[in-house]
Amino acid sequence: MFPFEDKADFYVINTCSVTSLGDRKSRQIIRRAQRQNEQAVIAVCGCYAQVHPEEIKAIEGVRVVLGTKERSHIVEYVEQAAREDGILDEVGNIMEAKDFEDIPLYDMPQRTRAFLKIEDGCQNFCSYCIIPYARGPVKSRHLDKIHAEAAKLVAAGFKEIVLTGIHLGAYGRDLPEDVTLADACREVLRVEGLKRLRLGSLESIELSPDLFELIRSDERFCAHLHLPLQAGSDAVLKGMNRHYDTAEFRPAH
Ligand code: SF4
Repeated sequence: MFPFEDKADFYVINTCSVTSLGDRKSRQIIRRAQRQNEQAVIAVCGCYAQVHPEEIKAIEGVRVVLGTKERSHIVEYVEQAAREDGILDEVGNIMEAKDFEDIPLYDMPQRTRAFLKIEDGCQNFCSYCIIPYARGPVKSRHLDKIHAEAAKLVAAGFKEIVLTGIHLGAYGRDLPEDVTLADACREVLRVEGLKRLRLGSLESIELSPDLFELIRSDERFCAHLHLPLQAGSDAVLKGMNRHYDTAEFRPAH
């Protein structure tokens, strides 16, 4: 691996599409890679590639386009593109993706706080958000895989694990077992040596009594929640297609 400023034979660019600025920055960085080495194999993946693969393929130098799945096979696709001519387009219909793509950690550059992704996808369809079209429906990581990954992180010296997901509160809804986010937290807390557990962004209406009890009873659980309320007006929340109103998140007196 090289710093991005260096000339490389292969570039893998993971794109964002949460705003039009993300799209523009992604295009800029792809062009920059192409200028650095006109012969390089440039592979582009991520949300922008998933939603607008044709725009990505139109940029000179792009040889592989992947969306938000199949990323665990990116090395094989890059090798294939290096052998063949043309553009390898592996962007599938994300709405048909049903399983969490398990991509284990290979490299751990720092050793304090690790982000552990346990869920992907969202089917809330807030009116302003492109994510459901880029990530598809909810896909949860299995509890045994979560435990194994958490144990690996703790063994590598991480003190804190932050559980993340695109729609974290929906964890488990797609799995045949009857499991919830609280079960995923319990699984991580079973790992010996873990000092702190924290949750990424969550919808306020998805906080269960079970989860609150766990936060209250296990001192390793950081009493910190990031709740994106989005608006203080019921009319705006309705227009946003958010599934709660202001009364639901106003503190009880
Ligand atoms: S819940 Fe979040 S990710 Fe899902 S559609 Fe709404 S803003 Fe987007």
